[in-house]
Amino acid sequence: MGLTGQGLAGSGLTKAASATGGGAADTLTTRLDHVVDLVRKNGLNWSRKNSLWPMPFATACCGIELMATGASRYDIARFGAEVMRFTPRQCDLMICAGRVAIKMMPVLQRIYMQMCEPKWVISMGACASTGGVFDTYAVVQGVDQFLPVDVYVPGCPPRPETLLEGVMAIKKVVEMDGVKSSKERGGMGIVAESMIQLNAEHVRRGSEG
Ligand code: SF4
Repeated sequence: MGLTGQGLAGSGLTKAASATGGGAADTLTTRLDHVVDLVRKNGLNWSRKNSLWPMPFATACCGIELMATGASRYDIARFGAEVMRFTPRQCDLMICAGRVAIKMMPVLQRIYMQMCEPKWVISMGACASTGGVFDTYAVVQGVDQFLPVDVYVPGCPPRPETLLEGVMAIKKVVEMDGVKSSKERGGMGIVAESMIQLNAEHVRRGSEG
């Protein structure tokens, strides 16, 4: 009996020990999973935010400012977003610059749908965001009626600095929002504001430079 009792007690102890060991292993695995998940998400977000590939959809005068943003003076490459692609499947940032006619909207939507998830949208300029001065039946009164806009860049046209602020805002969205698809996330609707207050000094330096 004693032996049996000891045996039972022994087996109980063994079970308890193995249970404790399993728990520790589980905890360790869970923690490791958590760490790996954290690194994966942060790593992905870090890579994504520093290598945005814009899809320019420039239809009017705002497009010229978009081009200026990519040129040497403003150099969007400093923010890792210089790789403008005209192949939607390689892009993750739609920049809609300029007015969009009703007839053009299906094209814009198709391009947006062809872009891979996760993807983000900048509406650049008064026309893209609200129709601007073109309050007519032929012009879309804001692309956000059809696309989930994450960042609005105000102005007519916005200066390149303001567009760069918009790109920065998108970077913050990427950082915060991780890998959620645009369907899950919806448009963030952030308004980018230029940090640079233009004054006479800036204008003078601009005309000299
Ligand atoms: S917002 Fe102004 S600059 Fe931009 S497309 Fe419209 S009219 Fe042209």
